[in-house]
Amino acid sequence: MKIALLPGDGIGPEITAATRLVLEAADEIWRIGFTFFEVDIGFKALADHGSTFPDSAYEAVLGADGLILGPVSHLDYPARDKGGLNPSGELRKRLDLYANIRPARTRPGLPSATGAQFDMVIYRENTEGFYSDRCMHAGNGELQVTEDVALATRRITRKASMRIAEAGFAGAAQRRGKVTAVHKQNVLRITDGLFLDCCREVAGRYPEVAYEELLVDAACAHLVRRPGDFDVIVTTNMFGDILSDLASELSGSLGLAASLNAGQDIAMAQAQHGSAPDIAGQGIANPASLIGSAGMLLDWLGARAKRPEVTAAGQSLFAALEQVLADPESRTRDLGGTLGTHAFASAVASALAGGGKP
Ligand code: NAD
Repeated sequence: MKIALLPGDGIGPEITAATRLVLEAADEIWRIGFTFFEVDIGFKALADHGSTFPDSAYEAVLGADGLILGPVSHLDYPARDKGGLNPSGELRKRLDLYANIRPARTRPGLPSATGAQFDMVIYRENTEGFYSDRCMHAGNGELQVTEDVALATRRITRKASMRIAEAGFAGAAQRRGKVTAVHKQNVLRITDGLFLDCCREVAGRYPEVAYEELLVDAACAHLVRRPGDFDVIVTTNMFGDILSDLASELSGSLGLAASLNAGQDIAMAQAQHGSAPDIAGQGIANPASLIGSAGMLLDWLGARAKRPEVTAAGQSLFAALEQVLADPESRTRDLGGTLGTHAFASAVASALAGGGKP
């Protein structure tokens, strides 16, 4: 099973190396036969190839069964015509990774931001919306009309809305059976009207799943006030991006924020957060986000390839992660602990080895 590792920028190389260490430990136990190969993107690729996402990088990942993408510093990239492509957006669009699945939950014993306990998953549409680099067939969704006037286009399609709604309801049916569609239809009447039409249509096919709708501004308030009432949130691209950072920080830290970008034929593990330049190079970033994302990838790969040992490796990885996070002595600094990135990953690898096969 071929896994492409794209370390990225900032803390990306540190947390990607930590994730590889855990996956190698899982491979030792479950004998999956992982083959890892690294693909340079970001500032390293810009220096070597003149682009933060060269064609050679895209061609390389096409040979993989799954991808692990480190965070990238795209805010600091040069303009696209100077080689500054956002690898995350490019991969989501070109590989048609339409569902960004972003879990966030509190854990017993781990301090959360407000003390309220919750367990939710945000299903974020991943290929269109307000993201100017992926909402046009040609050109860019942002343009400047005059020096003082700039426009951004938001694309919402029936196809993408149906796909994310289907993914969210299928996810909710496996969980506590509730979907909240988050929108801003009071202002974005046409685009979020179309999005909600799709959610309602899919809701009709899942009578066992409770369905509600919430305006995005109210959703922020309710996430803080009563996060335990949410099960699955289905929403458009940018709202999902913002809400998931809020949910993950409420759960204790952005450093816990795992996510999977899932398509029909391939999936990509990716932490929810950015490249954290403020702590890069210090070996203190929490790699739980990307390790958890890798666990989600194993779960997805196991189901897709019908390889129960891959699914079992993913489940063991989650259990090992929980075991390490449960001990205040083995937490990283963002969670009040003292462990560095590598030491945390080593602890997860040891817990994995200690757990063995169920
Ligand atoms: P950020 O998400 O990188 O960081 C926000 C805060 O969370 C910082 O204080 C950071 O130190 C902390 N944090 C993030 N991940 C952490 C971890 N694993 N462990 C401990 N603390 C962690 O947001 P930012 O600083 O606004 O963005 C930095 C760069 O990342 C920008 O260039 C931005 O464009 C980019 N970005 C990339 C992605 C991605 O690659 N998917 C996503 C968001 C932002």
